[in-house]
Amino acid sequence: MVKNYLEEEDMGSWLEGKTLANKIKEEVKKEVAHYLKTKKQVPGLIGILVGENKASKVYLRTKEKNCERLGIRSEILNFPEDIEASSLKSEIELLNSREDVDGILVQLPLPSSLNTHEIITSISPEKDVDGFHPFNLGNLLMNQEGLKPCTPLGIVELLKSRKISIQGKRVVIIGRSRIVGKPLAAMMTNDNGTVTICHSKTQNLPQVAAEADILVAALGRGAFVTLEFVKPGATVVDVGMNNLTDRSKVEQLFGKDEKREKNLDEKGYTLIGDVHPQVIEKAEYLTPVPGGVGLLTVAMLMSNTLEAFKRRRNL
Ligand code: NAP
Repeated sequence: MVKNYLEEEDMGSWLEGKTLANKIKEEVKKEVAHYLKTKKQVPGLIGILVGENKASKVYLRTKEKNCERLGIRSEILNFPEDIEASSLKSEIELLNSREDVDGILVQLPLPSSLNTHEIITSISPEKDVDGFHPFNLGNLLMNQEGLKPCTPLGIVELLKSRKISIQGKRVVIIGRSRIVGKPLAAMMTNDNGTVTICHSKTQNLPQVAAEADILVAALGRGAFVTLEFVKPGATVVDVGMNNLTDRSKVEQLFGKDEKREKNLDEKGYTLIGDVHPQVIEKAEYLTPVPGGVGLLTVAMLMSNTLEAFKRRRNL
């Protein structure tokens, strides 16, 4: 349990994401306004939702609201759960050819009847604002320009904004997904980190993790990363987003926490990361959940949409 952590001198600092996320979004907003004035054009983003996944709807709505605030045109297209892959690909083809569409994102996860790789690959790479297309991931591996996945991009920007250097550091990333672990490993290798990727088959995970100067937890297991995973003074980045519904477990982790109790009363859950909150006692920095990496993911999506708009017009 962690209480009054901010008053304790010997504890690490919370590496919050709000300040940087707001700064990035403010810059995007200014640039969008500039292009509206000078070119009479603004970026356009289309979100694709297949089926009725509640969490996916919330994520897309958040992205849409952010677009509205920044002056980016956005639209959510909702297709039925049982749509055929060929029909969905035809819809994406139409969006690929639309001049007013700069960004296309397919909200994941897709229903199991659809092959995610096949659908993502049908998006034109120049409009792939999530950066998941093999063309863009290939460019990332080759350390070339291109659209990059938003969550890893946000993590790297957050570290840079706090002058936490990656060069020469031992980096351990727990999780090897296409959207977080693998692209982040490529980015941090490009930035001269010495990177190890761990996954569910990794042996002696706590010992491997405890070698890290920068430890990234992106596995999707609430409060999994405990003190034994952490080298004293490490920077710990918590990517996990897990809904915890068990009130006694919440109290065990966070003590009396009014915000979390309110979450439980109103929504029936509270959002927790993959890192046990006690890790703040041992780490130099820890990103909070909520209020850390998640905020940057949305900000980077806005920035990628503007980037795609500019690239398509050679601006
Ligand atoms: P994912 O596709 O489910 O991948 C999870 C990865 O973690 C896999 O590589 C898996 O290993 C590994 N893993 C699972 N259990 C493990 C264990 N016990 N020990 C070691 N490795 C283990 O997840 P994801 O999409 O990358 O997301 C990970 C977490 O980040 C989730 O909580 C998700 O909600 C969150 N997320 C947050 C943001 C944000 O903006 N903050 C964005 C994206 C994702 P195998 O490959 O061997 O199965």
